[in-house]
Amino acid sequence: MTRAINRRVVTLVAITMAALPAMGQTAPSSLAASAEQRLPALTETYKHFHRNPELSHHEEKTSALFAGELRKLGYTVTERVGKYPDGSQAYGVVAMLQNGTGPRLLIRTDMDALPVVEQTGLDYASIVRSTNAQGQDVGVMHACGHDIHMTVMLGVAREMMERKSQWHGALMLIGQPSEETIDGARAMLADGLYERFGRPDFVLAEHDDSVHAAGNVAFKSGPMLASSTSIDVTMRGVGAHGSAPQLSKDPVLMAAEFVVLAQSIVARQIDPQQPAVLTVGMIHGGAKRNIIPDEVAMGLTLRTYSDKVRDQIIIDVRRTAEGIATGYGVPQDRMPVVTVSRTEIAPVESNDPALTERMRKVAIGALGADHVDAADSVMGSEDVGLFSLDGKIPAMMFRLGAADPVKLARAIETGVPLPAQHSSLFAPAYAPTIKTGVTAMTAMALDLLKE
Ligand SMILES: [Zn+2]
Ligand SMILES: [Zn+2]
Repeated sequence: MTRAINRRVVTLVAITMAALPAMGQTAPSSLAASAEQRLPALTETYKHFHRNPELSHHEEKTSALFAGELRKLGYTVTERVGKYPDGSQAYGVVAMLQNGTGPRLLIRTDMDALPVVEQTGLDYASIVRSTNAQGQDVGVMHACGHDIHMTVMLGVAREMMERKSQWHGALMLIGQPSEETIDGARAMLADGLYERFGRPDFVLAEHDDSVHAAGNVAFKSGPMLASSTSIDVTMRGVGAHGSAPQLSKDPVLMAAEFVVLAQSIVARQIDPQQPAVLTVGMIHGGAKRNIIPDEVAMGLTLRTYSDKVRDQIIIDVRRTAEGIATGYGVPQDRMPVVTVSRTEIAPVESNDPALTERMRKVAIGALGADHVDAADSVMGSEDVGLFSLDGKIPAMMFRLGAADPVKLARAIETGVPLPAQHSSLFAPAYAPTIKTGVTAMTAMALDLLKE
């Protein structure tokens, strides 16, 4: 997710890093001290996760390690929670800690990595390769920071275990698979997550980013992340020899035209007041230079904040594809196939206003007001919102700053943004990020479970 750099961050950078200020409240400052003390062990865990990334749907070793660490801490852990629509098992982890009676709090981390060849040059960089769903050999990298999220969760798990006298209720820690394919949360819910482990009273999550300085967290009340819809468009034609185009209906040319024309949908058919993004992220066709293939397949992602806009764009995509095919004289039985995924979809992520305000105050108490920013809405998406059951359960995701403050300051000065999530160069300043994540999330959990 690439976003405009938040200019307000500039003023915060100078005071960000050295040490978290003493708050004059024993609990919060001892939280930060405790997280600091655990940092060497957490760093090792982080680097292990980072070196050993696994793609969505394949988080076998990651989930086993994550579950094992929680078990060692004393949690009751269940693995392989989650069922995909095709019946296959997901690598979801549920770790429970029942501590008297009180509210039930779900905290979620994601666990999967991305098909990206890491280019950071770090000594703990990933060199893992794997085969993706299309059968291609790809590099694998924790380019979205889910390794940070898991590490933060393990830090929080330890703090909460050691502070059992300070809270009561049920803590439900979730290791979610397949966030990047946005079908992991749905798979866990479909496998009876709440029926088996209880329905939570609150849902919390965090996501790191490169626009806030490490040491800071950021909040946004209401909608923060866009809905995501995955669309497959296959332009079908009539194959022929590359030297005899007159015998073909060339799907490569049609696909090329589709990619260009699709840009006009958001630009010219959607109200400019309504944010929307339509990206063709995948295009595959052909096997040999001198063969005009029978078809070319494209994969699109669509982001919006409104169901009406989403539905309109799906109609426009279909009409654009069919219009091009008709223009090229493609026979009726070879019209394009447009499929909207029923599993790779996520609703708008909306942060419960009351919960967000309460947690923002807790974060200020734990980190100091200088370390709590306002987050912007972005066109990125998440399936964490599904755990709120359409907003019936108050849920909130906050942003965890992961940018090296010095580099961030330079980026703001020069206007050249830092590598963001999903970039092969994404390199969180892990130590302050993890420490801040553990401190903030533990403070929030303690607050929600003090009732
Ligand atoms: Zn991601
Ligand atoms: Zn992510």
